[in-house]
Order: sequence, then C-alpha cells, then structure tokens
Amino acid sequence: MSEFERDKSREKVAYLDPTNGFQEHTTYVEVREDGVTGVTSRILPHRFRTAGGQDVREHAEAGAATCPFCRERMEQVTPRFTADVIQEGRFRRGQAVLFPNAFPYGRNSSVAIFSHEHALRLSAMDVGILGDGFLVCRDYFQRLQQMDPALGFCSVNWNYMPPAGGGLVHPHLQTICGPRPTAFAAKTHESARGYQTRTGRNLWEDLVAHEKREMERYLGQTGPVEWVSSFAPKGMAGEVCFFLPARASIFTLTDEDVLQLALGLRCVFRYLEAAGIASFNLALDATLMDDAAFGVRGRLIPRFTLPPLGISDVNYYEKLQNEIICITVPEDMAREMRPFFERRR
Ligand SMILES: [Zn+2]
Repeated sequence: MSEFERDKSREKVAYLDPTNGFQEHTTYVEVREDGVTGVTSRILPHRFRTAGGQDVREHAEAGAATCPFCRERMEQVTPRFTADVIQEGRFRRGQAVLFPNAFPYGRNSSVAIFSHEHALRLSAMDVGILGDGFLVCRDYFQRLQQMDPALGFCSVNWNYMPPAGGGLVHPHLQTICGPRPTAFAAKTHESARGYQTRTGRNLWEDLVAHEKREMERYLGQTGPVEWVSSFAPKGMAGEVCFFLPARASIFTLTDEDVLQLALGLRCVFRYLEAAGIASFNLALDATLMDDAAFGVRGRLIPRFTLPPLGISDVNYYEKLQNEIICITVPEDMAREMRPFFERRR
C-alpha cells in the first residue's frame, strides 16, 4: 500500500443464514481510507447486483413537451447574461449554449446545454457534442477571469438523469466559479500541496504512475487524460477518476485535450450502458491561474435506484456518517472497464 492509500482493513462478519438452513455464513467488509481525498469507503465484496438494466426512457420522455432547454423554448425561457458579460446574452459553441442558472448556487452559477437534442442516450453522445459542452464552459470562465482576476477556482459539473439529481432530462452541465475551491476540491488541493512541499513532486503525476505500475485500478489513457478506478470510491457503484497531470489550469486545456476527455468519457459511458447504469454525477475541477499542484482533474460516480421502491443509493452512512457504502470492488470495476478503453478506436 502506498501513501495514496492510507488504510485498508478487513472486518469479518458472521451470521446464521436463513436461506441456508441457518448455517453459519461468514463474509467480510473492507474499510478503505484514501490518503489523498480523505474519503472512507466500506467495500462490500458480495457482488450485489446494482439495479442492472435501468431504463431511462420513462425519464427521457418526461417533460419533453415543456422542457425549457429544447430549441423551441430555450431562447425565450432561459436567462440571459447582462450585456457587460456578453453582448449576445449567451455563450455558444457548436450546438452548446451556456446561460445563467435560474436557480443559482453562487455568483457565477451557469448552465450549459450540450445540444438541441432533448434526450441523449449515453451511447448517443458523440465526442463533438460532449467537447462543445465543456469548451463553452471554458469560454465562460475566460470571460469571468477577464472581469474579475481574483477568481481562482472553477468546476464543471453534471447530474445526468434523475437518480443523480438531474432535474431536467435534457443533458446539461453546471458551473461553479469563485475565489475559493469547494470543500472537497480544497481538501484534495491541500493533499497535493502538502505532497509537493514534502517530496518536491507533483501528486497527480506520482499517483497516476503508481496506478500504472500496479495495474490494479488503472483504466487507460486518452491523449493527456489518465483514467483510474478510485481506491476509495465516493459512490455506491464505484468511481472513475480522471487526471490531466500535465495541465496547470482550465485555460491550459486545448480543444484537442477536451476532445480526448470526451473520448474517455465515451469509454466510461459504454461501460455504464453495458452494466445497465443510466445515471451519473461528474465534476471536473481546475484553477483559473496556473497551479500544477491543483492540476486539472475530475471524477464520475455511477448512480442508480433500486426497484421496486426506487430506493436511493445514498443513505445515512454517506449523508450523516461521511463514509461511503460501495458494493462494487474498485479493482473488479477496473478489470471490467479496461477493455472499453482498449477497444475505443
Ligand atoms: Zn429538452
């Protein structure tokens, strides 16, 4: 175990099994603490099935007639920026459009829709559509930085579909940009700065090199983007992390880098579809000014509900005890997802 993985211990559990004549059944729970993020996950190795075969068609059709992001309504019903931000009122790139969030979480809270398409299956999102969604966010951050050089941190976030908190089916991103990072980004930044002070090295480069050597959780590479299954996931169905260790701010991401990011996301989406998971949360975190210790990085957690009651995959353990119950063994997920990266071309 490296310093990136602070702790891993197993707790044996035994009970008399009613499905097997009350014979003694023993199993274990593996408690992991991530040395970089501080996340504690309880990995249950029982290979529970997630709600495989989740069907998003019911969600997809929901709200199509009144969707504010569809082409026929978007111009009239979504907010516009004041002219000092952008004369045209909204930022555009290809089919992607970015406008102020009507339900803001902060001063610079915006929404970016990827395309005119109301419901896009994961496998239907091509690299160009995905790329334009992220690039229009980069354009917006550029303008924000011109207006306020004190802004230091940004993130691009995605709740895809209702199980992940997505209030509208029409695929869209949400931005955060401010003088401070969010609490989780701050925690990982602190780890990266501490590592740099201690070793003189870049945490993200060393973490990726470690995962590549071990090949337990490494998934693959798309251009400058490195993909890894998280040691201690933040989600019940595991977590995919991506790192661009050679990039020092959101503005050092080239158009080509963003297309490579989109290419990697396509690999993850294909895996999710094959696994019957149709919802996720994603966050990409970066700085506005160069800071190699912070880097450009992100994470994606698959989300699901359990039928027939639509049981949430978030419960007291995560909400109140700050520990994550994870029913997907990260190394198993890596083994299953790696082929999707290998045959991407
Ligand atoms: Zn729509």
